Amino acid sequence: MSNPVADNGRVVTDIDTLVVGAGIAGLTAARLLQGAGQRVIVLEARDRVGGRVFTDRSDGYVTDRGASWIHGIADSPVAAAAAAFGMPTVEFTVGGYQPDSRPIAHYSPAGIRLTGAEAARYVADIHAVDAALAGIIAASSADASYRDVTEAALAEVSADQGWEGDRAQRVREYLEHRSEEQYGAWIGDLAAHGLDDDQVDGDEVVFPEGYGALASGLAKGLDVRLAHVVSRVVRDADGVTVDTSHGTFTARDVVVTVPVGVLQSDAFTIDPPLPEPVAGALSRLTMNAFEKVFLRFDEAFWDEGVYAIRQQGPESVWWHSWYDLTPLHDAPTLLTFAAGPAAVATRDWTDAEVVASIMVQLRRLYGDGIPEPLAVQRTAWQDDPFARGSYAYMTLGSTTSDHDALATPIGGVLHLAGEATWTDDPATVTAALCSGHRAAERVLGRPVPISGAWRTAGRRAGD
Ligand SMILES: Cc1cc2nc3c(=O)[nH]c(=O)nc-3n(C[C@H](O)[C@H](O)[C@H](O)COP(=O)(O)OP(=O)(O)OC[C@H]3O[C@@H](n4cnc5c(N)ncnc54)[C@H](O)[C@@H]3O)c2cc1C
Repeated sequence: MSNPVADNGRVVTDIDTLVVGAGIAGLTAARLLQGAGQRVIVLEARDRVGGRVFTDRSDGYVTDRGASWIHGIADSPVAAAAAAFGMPTVEFTVGGYQPDSRPIAHYSPAGIRLTGAEAARYVADIHAVDAALAGIIAASSADASYRDVTEAALAEVSADQGWEGDRAQRVREYLEHRSEEQYGAWIGDLAAHGLDDDQVDGDEVVFPEGYGALASGLAKGLDVRLAHVVSRVVRDADGVTVDTSHGTFTARDVVVTVPVGVLQSDAFTIDPPLPEPVAGALSRLTMNAFEKVFLRFDEAFWDEGVYAIRQQGPESVWWHSWYDLTPLHDAPTLLTFAAGPAAVATRDWTDAEVVASIMVQLRRLYGDGIPEPLAVQRTAWQDDPFARGSYAYMTLGSTTSDHDALATPIGGVLHLAGEATWTDDPATVTAALCSGHRAAERVLGRPVPISGAWRTAGRRAGD
């Protein structure tokens, strides 16, 4: 397409909508707006599209350093988009920290694999607490934590069922780890309702050729200005002015999709400041601490035929779950997470220190004879100035509706979108995609089918 404006530092004026951020939310919004005939420019700080969807091929393997999973493909617009872009998928239904969705090797605090009967009782205990939890969360006080409600459910179920020994402690650990793996947050810092929308509908899948193809598919045909760091968004009744590291842009509308951590930072100013209810909602969300560690080995030494390995007990505080990516990478590979407190504590560690700490735990389970990894890949989303964490979670006092409140249109010209602005399944690629669709509809003032994001060629009407 032709370039409608010079990008030389002058104010430019013939744009209908500016989109800040070329992640899934921004690209979806831009594509739908352009498909509806608008002139759109996407301003992106990085030298690539995709944001927190990022497939790294630097070591010859396909490594998704950001999102990996579609957390349930039933009626999923992400699954529809992936199919339209020809992205192969592999079923991997352990991404929701399920205790029993697929074969999982559970290890006791002593490092002994649980028998089938022991594992079944442990999983049944988790399900019993989960069943009690829903009502307790519904009745919880406004500032209750996920710790508060899970402790109440544990007390109720263990008393009802007469649990003895360490049964409650095993489930307590599981609940702590679920908060960490699903939201990258310590259980006492996550709001009681923080996992309400963490549902998995249908199988989960991952992408052996990389999630990044979703972003490149959406970006095709769009005018994306890479390496344009936005520092300021000014709005008035007539429209918006956006300052970037490569000049100033003006337009009638702006869709801002930067993560919550960027919105909250001094590096990104919105003028006049965000009004209520947006400002309040933003203050109750915060970015998490959640990092991936990929370990590649020359041979697999772990249990065959399982999707994941989990260990219980005091040794499991940081490293408790490993996911077998061998079929995806065609090389023996385990993925584990530094999630919540572990991610905070290891933030400044070297890769070698992290690997050594993880290997202590794997050796407990598999013996001293197992090999050192050949290679490690480790993410640092906490230190990424354009992410400032992996995704947002609800702090104490937050309600699920804070997500949608964050997207309340401002002054008829400013629309926030992105994973944190979508109540139903926040913190996901699905949320990002759906929020981009909603922003486009609000800018246009009429409904447009979300499928337009992957069915059109990304052309402007008239091109
Ligand atoms: C480690 C990790 C694992 C995850 N796992 C999953 C998973 O398995 N499944 C799942 O569904 N989701 C997962 N997620 C979450 C998912 O990746 C995000 O919810 C989604 O990609 C967010 O999309 P977005 O468009 O809202 O934001 P982003 O992708 O962050 O897009 C925002 C864009 O704005 C840009 N930007 C930031 N600041 C500026 C600025 N000042 N000027 C200009 N541009 C700026 C950024 O560079 C970025 O490209 C994971 C995320 C991480 C990090």
